[in-house]
Amino acid sequence: GPQVVKFVYDFTEGNKDLKDLLGGKGANLAEMTNLGLPVPPGFTITTDACKVYLDSGEEPAALRDEVSAHLETLEQRMGKRLGQHDDPLLVSVRSGAKFSMPGMMDTVLNIGLSDASVEGLARQAGDERFAWDSYRRLIQMFGKTVLGVDGELFEDALEEAKAAKGVTVDTDLDAADLKKLVKGFKKTVRTEAGRDFPQDPREQMDLAVKAVFESWNGDRAKLYRRQERIPHDLGTAVNICSMVFGNLGPDSGTGVAFTRDPASGQQGVYGDYLSNAQGEDVVAGIRNTVALADLEQLDKVSYDQLMQIMETLENHYKDLCDIEFTIERGQLWMLQTRVGKRTAGAAFRIATQLVDQGLIDEAEALQRVTGAQLAQLMFPKFDEDAKVDKIGRGIAASPGAAVGKAVFDSYTAIKWSRSGEKVILIRRETNPDDLDGMIAAEGILTSRGGKTSHAAVVARGMGKTCVCGAEELEVDTKRRRMTAPGGIVIEEGDVVSIDGSTGKVYLGEVPVVPSPVVEYFEGRMHAGADDADELVAAVHRVMAYADRVRRLRVRANADNAEDALRARRFGAQGIGLCRTEHMFLGERREYVERLILADTDEEREQALDRLLPLQKRDFVELFEAMDGLPVTVRLLDPPLHEFLPDITELSVRVALAESRKDANENDLRLLQAVHRLHEQNPMLGLRGVRLGLVIPGLFAMQVRAIAEAAAERRDAKGDPRAEIMIPLVGTVQELEIVRDEAEQVIDEVQRAAGLDLKLSLGTMIELPRAALTAGQIAEAAEFFSFGTNDLTQTVWGFSRDDVEASFFTAYLEKGIFGVSPFETIDKDGVGALVRAAAEAGRATRPDLKLGVCGEHGGDPESVHFFHEVGLDYVSCSPFRIPVARLEAGRAAS
Ligand code: ADP
Ligand code: MG
Ligand code: MG
Repeated sequence: GPQVVKFVYDFTEGNKDLKDLLGGKGANLAEMTNLGLPVPPGFTITTDACKVYLDSGEEPAALRDEVSAHLETLEQRMGKRLGQHDDPLLVSVRSGAKFSMPGMMDTVLNIGLSDASVEGLARQAGDERFAWDSYRRLIQMFGKTVLGVDGELFEDALEEAKAAKGVTVDTDLDAADLKKLVKGFKKTVRTEAGRDFPQDPREQMDLAVKAVFESWNGDRAKLYRRQERIPHDLGTAVNICSMVFGNLGPDSGTGVAFTRDPASGQQGVYGDYLSNAQGEDVVAGIRNTVALADLEQLDKVSYDQLMQIMETLENHYKDLCDIEFTIERGQLWMLQTRVGKRTAGAAFRIATQLVDQGLIDEAEALQRVTGAQLAQLMFPKFDEDAKVDKIGRGIAASPGAAVGKAVFDSYTAIKWSRSGEKVILIRRETNPDDLDGMIAAEGILTSRGGKTSHAAVVARGMGKTCVCGAEELEVDTKRRRMTAPGGIVIEEGDVVSIDGSTGKVYLGEVPVVPSPVVEYFEGRMHAGADDADELVAAVHRVMAYADRVRRLRVRANADNAEDALRARRFGAQGIGLCRTEHMFLGERREYVERLILADTDEEREQALDRLLPLQKRDFVELFEAMDGLPVTVRLLDPPLHEFLPDITELSVRVALAESRKDANENDLRLLQAVHRLHEQNPMLGLRGVRLGLVIPGLFAMQVRAIAEAAAERRDAKGDPRAEIMIPLVGTVQELEIVRDEAEQVIDEVQRAAGLDLKLSLGTMIELPRAALTAGQIAEAAEFFSFGTNDLTQTVWGFSRDDVEASFFTAYLEKGIFGVSPFETIDKDGVGALVRAAAEAGRATRPDLKLGVCGEHGGDPESVHFFHEVGLDYVSCSPFRIPVARLEAGRAAS
């Protein structure tokens, strides 16, 4: 027969693994039902039904009958019919998507009440006040979320009713007051929505279901999904759940609970309870809640049962759960549970606690934490004990803790920071013109825009602290001031502190403390704060799990001994990229200038001879710091003009000197050289291997410095393991020529020293042509290191220095990509080339060593990709090493 799609599932039919179909709430209600926990009976309309509705504007044809059938079963079970006048069954209609979107979509309680059934409910419960309270809540919620009436109209009327009576809390309103309120609410609905509040219970239910479907595409929900990178096509399920009542008097109430502290991971009793209340009351702050522990005094039986259930849930989900519950006249009901959100620190603690409890194994523990959480724990933090003056909160766009003087334009940011001031750049939103100011600032604060706004994208790219979209802060750039709620005015120069991990904004300087996790990696962790010790112990254990299983090795990008030593402390297993350009700066620039200006071989050799011992000394130190571990040294890569004076500055200097008739011979030659070397597009110009081929003796000098440094270390009984890397190769011929020259030099040094230095020679793969001819290139290379920064630039044709700040925001907003390809490797394009090149290279040379040294080496998602492709190692900045180790472990477990 024809395939029948099932659109409705009873709570007894589902389970926790059906989140795609039933949403998180529905799947977990079903799971709890099947665990035998007290869940009010009900059923779930699937996300498939929602998708049909959103695509076609109509509910699927079969839905109405299916809902009728499930409703009838429910009515039979409860022994009353929906909205039945003398004894009404009431239900809630609750949204619930696959991923929890707190407060983003709609729920309506008390469906089934009408002018007639409210009387029946009052008689049945023996409580008139309760019935009318429930009815006014229904009209209020239904009016707002289903009929689109401005919710404030209802809230204002409620306030007025309390004021008229001279009371402050809703529970002080009696049945007569509430009856009057209901009358007013119904009138408001009629005038505002142009229709009467529906008296037919099924019509109420059907309209509420549609409203929930539609809330998937509400502005709030869409914005939230964009920020959280939740796909837009999942749709929401709808749960129809028979009502239980926490507003039936003092022996009733409603609450929320966590099976552990979501902030610390500590086991215990965490939550809030409010008696004589319904639904959101407990989180809405309408009356003061009590701590969950106090429930023990109020209702010991329910409390004990709740504790029992919490234990059952933890053992079942093997994780922290959060819970919504209601007590109706001493009877406990479970209304929701899910694996709860937690802070980064709690994630690590909970993972190890669960291992200790025998609930999960080490591999599972690795899945319970992320590299992003570890990175968060490594940022310096505001001192939690400090007295703070919070003035607002925005979106946590780029983590870190930044303190500085408020400035409202880029020019001032640059000017002040040049004179040594720390500044926070505050804008309504940023645009490419603000880039220099953003670089100069300690942190960036905006009042508009979300996680994909210009400010957020650029700040994350720069690793700079950013809070964006702090809407309650009014930024007035013209008058150089910002106004916070309560009329607090922040003028230019006032100190502010921003927390990019929480989005919080403070007035004044909040003291910053180093992260205990970094102190631990640095080997400086001293006992003291117990809390920090526990966190560090958990991180230590999880890192050990990761190191045990990971297959990828992790190296550091480091250019000097100091960075190399730090990288080692952080767990680096070598250096994957030592850039040599920094070794040509400072006082050595003079010799580089001479090298470039040399007219004769002799002059050139002289300049190189001066550079050689300096380079050698750098390498000796580096090899010593990384003794016993591989160090990949990249020969000079950037265009030479980077070592020469700026063309404009030099032109002006020469012109001025000429006008005074005292032009200096050297400046004139320099200017000529600058003109000669000037390129329209230096990144695609004379750089990398091309320098080695065009400037005689340059690469040979570098190779000699490396070889002699290695020989010196060996004489000192060290274990240097140098690897020489040639950048920007496009064809194997380039590599062969440079390689022959290098081998000659190495031979010479080895013969002189009487040693086999075991140097290996390899290349970067950072041009599409290199990737496409990797099979040939591997003939001349003992290793490949994928330079994914340049490879991304050249595969996409994106200039990294320009595009992120100019049009990436637009690209992200249009969904062309979800994240910058410079941040996370573009698997389909750049990644495909990496995969193919790795395979072709290994086909030629099975023992070819493969690594990656772009920024992607420290990016969690990219690390997983490199694991999958079968690379041997990733290399990243020293600070990212723990993240890469953890993610490599997660990828392998
Ligand atoms: P959200 O997803 O925003 O938490 P819910 O669907 O969970 O929305 O419901 C909102 C509030 O109403 C919650 O406090 C919930 O516990 C309560 N609630 C939902 N359904 C019922 C019901 N059948 N009986 C009593 N309270 C309910
Ligand atoms: Mg809820
Ligand atoms: Mg490069």
